[in-house]
Amino acid sequence: MTAPVSGSPPGRSSAAIASVGELLAHALRMEEEAEERYRLLADQMETHNNPELAGLFRKLAGHEAHHAEEIRAQIGRMELPGLESWDHSWGGPESPEAVDFGAIRYTTTPRQALQLALDAERRAFEFFDRIAAAAGDPELKRWAAEFAAEEDEHVRLVLGELDKHPEPPRHPDDDPDPPVPQD
Ligand code: ZN
Repeated sequence: MTAPVSGSPPGRSSAAIASVGELLAHALRMEEEAEERYRLLADQMETHNNPELAGLFRKLAGHEAHHAEEIRAQIGRMELPGLESWDHSWGGPESPEAVDFGAIRYTTTPRQALQLALDAERRAFEFFDRIAAAAGDPELKRWAAEFAAEEDEHVRLVLGELDKHPEPPRHPDDDPDPPVPQD
């Protein structure tokens, strides 16, 4: 939102990312967490007897896993030293793309699952987009813009699914064990 001020407390900012290596390290962590999230959401949709959304989340999990593989290969080629010791620059234990895993429960409805996915994908997009916008190094800018474009695709995909899953008639939080709509 605002320009980073040096010496300010770490927040969910991309201010500290100044190299392609740091960007890749962050992107890898985000992809790994995204894969885990989608596997959890797929499991939940299976318990909801919603094979269509379970399939979608498994597809997304596979996509994130494949992307993580590519980033790992890229990092390997760059032979970055001490990657695991780097501080992740989102200022907390959670990466921007991570959903609140505690929010995924067996009662999570298809629409809630999609909403969690959407929130996470939007945060991921914003994270990379901010880096791309702020980057002075053209190589860093190119990578960040590429990652942002991929996250934007995920956002669109999830938005399209949300259109197909309208709001349930009553607030799901009001009912600890809502009936599973069959259609
Ligand atoms: Zn994504």
